[in-house]
Amino acid sequence: MQVALEGIELRLVQLPLAESFRAAHGRRDHREIVVVQALVADGPSGWAECVAEVEPTYWPEYTIGAFDVLENHLVPRMLAGRSLREVRGHQMAKAALEGATIDAGLRADKQSLADFLGARRREVGTGIALGMADTIDDLVTQAMTWCALGHRALKLKVAPGWDVEPVRAVRAAVGQRVELIVDANGSYRSDEPDHVAALVRLSDGVLGLAAIEQPFAPDDLVGHARLVDLVSVPICLDESIGSLADVETALALGACGAVSLKVGRVGGLLESRRIHDRCVTEGLAMRAGGMLETGLGRAVNLAVAALPGATLPPDLGPSARYFTQDITPPFDDRAGTMSVPDGPGLGTEPLQEVLDAVTVNRLVLRASP
Ligand code: MG
Repeated sequence: MQVALEGIELRLVQLPLAESFRAAHGRRDHREIVVVQALVADGPSGWAECVAEVEPTYWPEYTIGAFDVLENHLVPRMLAGRSLREVRGHQMAKAALEGATIDAGLRADKQSLADFLGARRREVGTGIALGMADTIDDLVTQAMTWCALGHRALKLKVAPGWDVEPVRAVRAAVGQRVELIVDANGSYRSDEPDHVAALVRLSDGVLGLAAIEQPFAPDDLVGHARLVDLVSVPICLDESIGSLADVETALALGACGAVSLKVGRVGGLLESRRIHDRCVTEGLAMRAGGMLETGLGRAVNLAVAALPGATLPPDLGPSARYFTQDITPPFDDRAGTMSVPDGPGLGTEPLQEVLDAVTVNRLVLRASP
């Protein structure tokens, strides 16, 4: 799986979203990402996207910062054969660089990413994330539209003041057979009694939630541990988990019953595989989280969602839900299920003309001979 790296190409790419998306941490109309290509001397290139967003409001990394740390700190170290661990943090940038090189190796070895990670399922159920809407009726209409298309799991974004009522309305509209998760993106405070009371109401059995994701701030693991004692619904940590060590801390504190696994947020595929295996051993439920990825990241998420420990519904929908024109051929669903790519590596690659058209900056860093 060793490849002879000739260099790394970095691209800054701007893609319009099919529709704008609102969560507790902001509204998005475009996806601005860094695409990493691992250039190999005598084999196929490897590809990855860096999932950092344009603003550091979900996670401390952001697109331009990720481009900078890749250009000036991570790529030079990798090309010099040094460890990326010399750089603290910057998991999303590291994950993209690691991902592109692993993809190159897998393509050379003709092994699929799903197989490399240990996934066995060939098909996975979708999970459609619905942002906060202008009105409850708008949200219910969106939920009904997706369910009518065959999707059987929804994730609703919530925040203080937009929680129990919209969730109750969606549950009443879609019935009991649709899986529902809520995601607060850390917008509640554990020292605010009204916030804790709202979360307890969300855990009421009539709403039938499969998980409450990241109610409190990423570093408030003690607050999450206290909430676990008050509610029967699994608390799923997303922004709190940047590494396997964070999973160990959460386990030691009893701060969660589930983990949202995002390859970018935990620094890469190898750490993701370790976290998945640890979740299985410890009986923590796991879900494949999403970051409005292009097809490059969607291929990764499909492989993660196919892992045996991924028992909660993922953030995963057909490409058309996110982009009218993706940089790869689109991934489609069939009535709420999607196929896991089984070709070498990611099992997809960019459409060169499309990629060139949406590239706003491009840089190639070469290994010294
Ligand atoms: Mg989340």
